[in-house]
Amino acid sequence: MGDFTGKNVLVLGGSRGIGAALVRRFASGGGTVGFTYAGSKDAADALAAETGAEAIRADSADRDQLVATVGGRGALDIIVINAGTLVLGDPLTLDADAVDRMIDVNVRAPYHAAVEAARRMNEGGRIIVIGSVNGDRMPFAGGAAYALTKSAMQGMVRGLARDFGGRGITVNSIQPGPTDSDMNPADGPMAEQMHSFMAIKRHAKASEIAELAGYIAGPHGSMITGSMQTIDGGFGA
Ligand code: NDP
Repeated sequence: MGDFTGKNVLVLGGSRGIGAALVRRFASGGGTVGFTYAGSKDAADALAAETGAEAIRADSADRDQLVATVGGRGALDIIVINAGTLVLGDPLTLDADAVDRMIDVNVRAPYHAAVEAARRMNEGGRIIVIGSVNGDRMPFAGGAAYALTKSAMQGMVRGLARDFGGRGITVNSIQPGPTDSDMNPADGPMAEQMHSFMAIKRHAKASEIAELAGYIAGPHGSMITGSMQTIDGGFGA
């Protein structure tokens, strides 16, 4: 029997990267896992076949679709809101529509998904959002809009922890630093600069982020709420 046996789990944005590691963590722990994706059907189907989790196409930027998807999973025990995008660049020339879409996916969607999940969530449920250490520290140019989205999550987490705490539901953010994924490859053009900010000079593995989520969502996590759990190799130290 795994640590999530009997638990109804939903991962938003689970087809690749950190999200796929989250799906693997909860599925291998015995959870009944569903996960959403936007465009990567092949990756989603392969992950579903590998883990037994259910892949659901739902764009987090589409509020009606998102809310219907979350509501359709019934009484959840755990929701991890991982879907996110990264738009970097000079704010004077950055495409305003791309910035707004990032705000839709990284800010509006987590709020509406968390609230919808909480409507039916079982007592003692867990709401986890994947923020970023960039919510605390933005040490290079071009990241203002992304940092905005990740610091917005912090206020949401603190507030919702108060709203839902009476039912034993915890609300937390995991704030990764550089983590190897398509979004931020360990051998990408910014890797060296990112490692220069870190005490442990490497990208995290997505599975390391998923293990922290497993702890927060597990039986020992019931007093962790309203918190930002940073896992960044000292990027923000
Ligand atoms: P990836 O780009 O590798 O994967 C993103 C995942 O989110 C994919 O499964 C993608 O689905 C899904 N997704 C993106 N947009 C949407 C959408 N509109 N609707 C539904 N699903 C969507 O990113 P990472 O794994 O690196 O990042 C995951 C989270 O971690 C993000 O919130 C990111 O900001 C955060 N983070 C990442 C860090 C890093 O260094 N990698 C550091 C700090 C935070 P699809 O495949 O269908 O596109």
